[in-house]
Order: sequence, then structure tokens, then C-alpha cells
Amino acid sequence: MEKTLSIVKPDGVRKGLIGEVIRRFENAGLRVVALRRVMLGKREAEAFYEVHKEKGFYQSLTDFMSSGPVVAMVLEGEDAIQRTRQIMGATNPKDADPGTIRADFAEEVEQNIVHGSDSPENAAIEIAFFFSQREIQ
Ligand code: UDP
Ligand code: MG
Repeated sequence: MEKTLSIVKPDGVRKGLIGEVIRRFENAGLRVVALRRVMLGKREAEAFYEVHKEKGFYQSLTDFMSSGPVVAMVLEGEDAIQRTRQIMGATNPKDADPGTIRADFAEEVEQNIVHGSDSPENAAIEIAFFFSQREIQ
């Protein structure tokens, strides 16, 4: 069974979409095996998105990600990484398929409601960023 890290971003929390996002993952058969609501500091947001540090959107993105509480979760299931990203939709909501979280709830590319790991390597790193082994059951 594969695991992935998903985050309801500050805009998703502000819009009251915590339950909606989790419901969509659970309806797809993914299991929530760890869950936490937490406020990231600016330095933590920078560390989480370090792979993007050379991008023009890095400062704005990490300001946004530290602008309010987020809800981090570990999802488990067959092909969890790819399936989570399908349920999320494309990064830019303008390109996201109808019925995906980003198409339904996001208006712009930065504030796009939800994060999901993009590879097994990054899933392992991102899960360890938020959770200890004993919190994942
Ligand atoms: N992002 C942005 N502008 C861009 C591309 C990405 O603000 O042109 C933000 C957006 O919030 C995105 C995050 O940076 O979710 C990480 O980008 P990535 O390409 O990894 O997209 P994701 O994996 O989240 O779909
Ligand atoms: Mg990404």
C-alpha cells in the first residue's frame, strides 16, 4: 500500500473545505492514516517547498503557505500518489479537469486549495516533515 502527503492549504481552511477535501479522498477509497491542523512558520514553509526555491513564485508561495493554518494528512491506498493528484486536478485550476478539487474550488494557480506529493521519494520526505512514525497508523 502506497502512502502520500496531502495538505489542505490556508485558502482551503479559510473557505471551510477541510471536510470536503477529506471526503473526496475517502470516497475514492483512500484512507486517512495521520491527520494534523498546524500553522507553518515562514521558515517551515520555505523548507517544505525548498525544491521550488529558484522559482519566481517561491516568496509569494511561502508567504501564502504561512498565512494561516493548514491541515496535513497521510493518505494510504493503492497508487495513492497518482490517485491523490488526479482528485486534486492540475496545478493551475484553469487547466484542471471538471470535478477535481482545484477546478471546483480554486480561482488561481497559487491559492489552489490542496497539495499532494508527486513521487514516492518526495512522499517519504514530506510525510516525515509533518509526522513521526508512531502517528501514522
Ligand atoms: N505555484 C504558483 N505558481 C506557479 C506554479 C506553482 O504559485 O506558476 C504554487 C502552487 O500553489 C502550487 C505550488 O506552487 O501548488 C507548487 O508547485 P508545483 O509545480 O509543485 O505544483 P503541484 O505539485 O502543487 O501541483
Ligand atoms: Mg508539487
